[in-house]
Formats: sequence, C-alpha cells, structure tokens
Amino acid sequence: MRGSASSMTVLRPRTVHEALAAYANASNAIPLVGGTDLMVSWNLGELNDRVILDLSGLADWSRITETKTGLYIGAFATHTQLQQHPVVQKDFPLLAKACATVGGVQIQNRGTIGGNIANASPAGDTFPPLAIYDARVHIASTRGRRVLPFLDIFAGVKKTTLRGGELIEAIELPFLEYEPSIEMFRKVGTRAAQAISKTVAAAMIWFSEDEETVWDLRFALGSMAPTVRRLRKVEAYVRGRKLTPAVIAEASKLLKADVSPIDDVRSTAAYRLATSQRLLEYFLGPEPDVEP
Ligand SMILES: Cc1cc2nc3c(=O)[nH]c(=O)nc-3n(C[C@H](O)[C@H](O)[C@H](O)COP(=O)(O)OP(=O)(O)OC[C@H]3O[C@@H](n4cnc5c(N)ncnc54)[C@H](O)[C@@H]3O)c2cc1C
Repeated sequence: MRGSASSMTVLRPRTVHEALAAYANASNAIPLVGGTDLMVSWNLGELNDRVILDLSGLADWSRITETKTGLYIGAFATHTQLQQHPVVQKDFPLLAKACATVGGVQIQNRGTIGGNIANASPAGDTFPPLAIYDARVHIASTRGRRVLPFLDIFAGVKKTTLRGGELIEAIELPFLEYEPSIEMFRKVGTRAAQAISKTVAAAMIWFSEDEETVWDLRFALGSMAPTVRRLRKVEAYVRGRKLTPAVIAEASKLLKADVSPIDDVRSTAAYRLATSQRLLEYFLGPEPDVEP
C-alpha cells in the first residue's frame, strides 16, 4: 500500500515547548524532522492513519554551540551543517567525515543527527565516531530533562531507550584532553555514495612518550552487531603494549569477542568480520590505512 497523506493527522507545533506538550498528549505520534527515514516508511504506507509530529520548522534545536568543555549539537543539526562547522572539522573530524558519507548530498542536507540516532539502525554512520568521542545524549520531555551516555540510547535494532513523549534535544561532545597520535574513519559499502555500510569504523590511538607503547586506544564498529560496539576487549588488551605483529594478531582475534555480525542482503557475517579485522590490523600496523 502506498502512503496516503489524507489518512494522517499532522501536528505542527510552533515552539519546542508546544512540541513537547503535543508529544506528551499524543505519545504514539511519530516525530518528523528531516523526514529522510520517514519518507521511506511513508512510501510503504507505514505511516497511514498515524499522527505525525512535524518538527521540521523548529530552528531552536538546530544550533551547534561551542562551550568551555566541548560542543553542544542541537538534535536538528543536519549532516551538512556538521560537516561544515569549523569546530567539528578541527576537534571532531571523524564526525565530519562520517556525515559526509551519509547517503548523498540531498540526504545530508535534510537528514539530522538526532534522526540518525533515533532511527537506531545498526548501520548508522555517525555512531562509531560518536561512540569514541564519548558523546552524551540530552533528552527532553514535559517531565524534564535527562542525559545518557551515547551507547545507552540504543536498545537493539531500530530500538532506543527513549520513553513516551521524549525527544532527543542535543548531543554533547566533550573536547579531547590530548590530540590522538593517529585517527581513522572508514566506511565499507558497495559504492562511494548512497551505500549502507557493510562495516563502518572509527578509531583513535595515543602513544606514550617513547612513541611505541600504546597509551590509549578507542575503536568502534557499526553494522557488526545490533547496535554500535566499542571494542572494549581490544582496547584493554593493547593499552600499555607495543604494537608487535604478535600483539596486532592477538588484537585481531579478540575483535570477534566484541561483535556479532550477521548475514543479510548487504553482506555476509564472514565478509564483515574479515574486513573489520583488516581495518583494525591496518590501523594498528606500521603504515596505518587511515584515508576515508
Ligand atoms: C536514500 C537514503 C540514504 C541513506 N543513507 C544513509 C547512510 O549512508 N548512513 C546513515 O547513517 N543513514 C542513512 N540514511 C538514513 C537517514 O538519512 C539518516 O538516519 C538521517 O540522519 C535521519 O534524520 P532525519 O532528520 O531525516 O530523520 P526522520 O526521518 O525525520 O526521523 C527518523 C526517525 O527518528 C525519529 N526522530 C527524528 N528526530 C528525533 C528526535 N529529535 N527525537 C526523537 N525522535 C526523533 C523519527 O520519529 C523517526 O522514527 C539514508 C536514508 C535514505 C533515504
């Protein structure tokens, strides 16, 4: 069945305050911001007879603000806004790179960071950078506000821990204490644009003063489990070690314990695992392959 606009009820709040009140009164309503994910559902008729809370006209939550401690990104900021923001480019370049790989330019112009997170696809491209930047998600409803560590917003494939009447208001990124020695964002898909990830990785590594011993590693993978994963076992294993071939081989083996890839229309579990292991090995290796 195709989408039928006349069967839908559309609520158009004029302020954020009105939006939260409208959502509190109709918590089965579907918030719409950029509409890039929802237009696919619309086309399939999945929004027929539903109440749509159209937030696309609200500018308040699109602002990106630098604070003393980091960056406060309104949930309605688009992928294009993020790519072009000077502080994102300088201090959170892996997020800028990720936003540049979301769909094509049209999708980047409409699609928002909050919509990407709320949609909770295992393949969300902004998630690995947000996971290693230790993002925090600000949530608002008429009951008040709460803040969650980024990974805690996900409950499974296309499921979040948002409660009735709650909207994502912003994403907060704390500035890094030290600049990483090497960083990488890599998306592996079928094409260069308009491709959903088979695997997507973001990583940062810091070396100690001897420039050989790993002081810290943060590595996250998307499309490799129902939700984005930090490679906690790999990260803990390499901390304090020199990256010898044996250490890299062991890290690559440990990666399996942090993920649970599946076969689907886009790829096989075996390909996803092998590719992710190669990305990790390259990143930890003597000539890291860090180009996007
Ligand atoms: C052709 C195409 C290509 C795409 N390619 C990619 C890609 O390469 N990588 C990728 O990661 N994604 C991709 N996407 C998915 C999509 O574009 C992104 O997820 C986008 O960021 C969604 O934002 P939006 O504002 O358009 O969300 P909407 O479509 O408006 O909403 C998406 C979902 O989130 C909810 N929602 C939106 N905002 C909020 C909020 N602030 N609080 C609570 N709930 C909210 C909505 O109710 C809905 O369930 C693609 C989509 C299309 C159609």
